[in-house]
Amino acid sequence: MRMNVKPIDSVPDRVNEIRMLTAKIVNQEILPNEKALWGWRRQAGAGQAERDKAHRLREKIKAKVKQAGLWAPHLPQEYGGAGLSFLEHAYMNEIMAYAVGAAALFGVVAPNSGNQKILLKYGSEEQKKKWLLPTIEDGMESGFSMTEPDQPGSDPRSLKTTARRDGDEWVINGRKWFTSNGKRADFFIVMCRTEDGEDASATSSGRMTQIIVPADTPGVNIARSVPVWGHEGHHCEIFYDDVRVPVENQLGGRGSGHQAAQDRLGAGRVYHCMNCIGQMWRAFDLMVERSMSRQVHGGLLESKQFIQGFIADSYIDLQAARLMTLNCAAKMESGADARTDISAIKVFVPAAYHRVVDRAIQVWGGAGVSSDLPLADMYQGARVLRLADGPDEVHKILIAKNILKHYHNGESWDFAA
Ligand SMILES: Cc1cc2nc3c(=O)[nH]c(=O)nc-3n(C[C@H](O)[C@H](O)[C@H](O)COP(=O)(O)OP(=O)(O)OC[C@H]3O[C@@H](n4cnc5c(N)ncnc54)[C@H](O)[C@@H]3O)c2cc1C
Repeated sequence: MRMNVKPIDSVPDRVNEIRMLTAKIVNQEILPNEKALWGWRRQAGAGQAERDKAHRLREKIKAKVKQAGLWAPHLPQEYGGAGLSFLEHAYMNEIMAYAVGAAALFGVVAPNSGNQKILLKYGSEEQKKKWLLPTIEDGMESGFSMTEPDQPGSDPRSLKTTARRDGDEWVINGRKWFTSNGKRADFFIVMCRTEDGEDASATSSGRMTQIIVPADTPGVNIARSVPVWGHEGHHCEIFYDDVRVPVENQLGGRGSGHQAAQDRLGAGRVYHCMNCIGQMWRAFDLMVERSMSRQVHGGLLESKQFIQGFIADSYIDLQAARLMTLNCAAKMESGADARTDISAIKVFVPAAYHRVVDRAIQVWGGAGVSSDLPLADMYQGARVLRLADGPDEVHKILIAKNILKHYHNGESWDFAA
């Protein structure tokens, strides 16, 4: 099935151009080849021949993406990216995410993409040359090491990993886990509490600093990969034992670590929600398509009212999620304070995505949870999103606080603002 994408009247021409160019690659190059591109990973007995074929195919598609000027939509042109505006990128994501693994073929691979964003914003010229450019041009890999097993990741101000200044070096001690890409990473960006006894007035968040740690530095010990949904290999538990790196590896000003972590996510939340919408769109198409072809108990699924309810509820979820996200994006683009809206989409969209995929799985029956379809992976991804990048509860607290502040100041909420 192709993604049905047409130009939108209300958006600038360039946004439509990006959407249509992206849809052409998704529909012509990626969707028809999804199995060949990624299926070998799940195929028992798949060998080198399948891997080589998939590699050649990926390179061919990447070349087309570059030719279309869509490579690395999150990066400026001077760093080899597409140089898209915020809205162009947001609208592109809903198309790109429709196809399995398409982001990687467009040069957006987490956690590298998030790290590239903070290196761009906080890195010195020297750091950009050493750590940013090689991740873009030479396949250098990275990880983002913030979450700790003994402290709540949802309260990053509480993190305990320390960096102590010793002459021209930072000495890092602590234990992190869920550092994605841990085994492949050439370097980590590590969130550290920088001991600052000389500045007793610093707030707890002002004591956090991000520090670049090459993976082969003595004292960096990858203890294990934490299995996630039964799969091993990607998200690592890492001990940092007396790890010494030069002070030049400090990223941004001392105490800027918390803000840098927020910046890594800020606009990213809109992009992630647009990704969710692309994936919901795919799940929705799969659900409707199946309901039109599967006969059960003497009739097509589409003729059963339970299934019609699934279709209607999913339409409502998808449309509400999309409009809410685009409204938030428009507010951000206009420079208005969108913090409440960002938290609202971060709660609503992954939950709506979860519901839509859940219904699509139900309609497909056993096939829905098989790896023949992308639905099982989507389901797991949607579930994780409800606790990562700030769990639902933390965002709901923020929403309520912002709203109550208005009312305490004698002003009710203006939903049209
Ligand atoms: C697949 C995957 C990949 C990840 N990749 C990375 C990575 O690359 N780098 C990295 O650093 N981390 C990564 N993480 C970690 C992730 O960011 C954290 O799991 C997340 O921030 C939540 O932190 P936590 O697990 O410590 O949960 P906790 O902070 O212990 O929170 C647990 C639960 O407590 C509840 N809660 C929290 N605060 C409140 C409150 N105020 N009121 C009520 N309830 C509350 C929420 O329901 C929350 O889910 C990854 C996680 C997963 C699952």
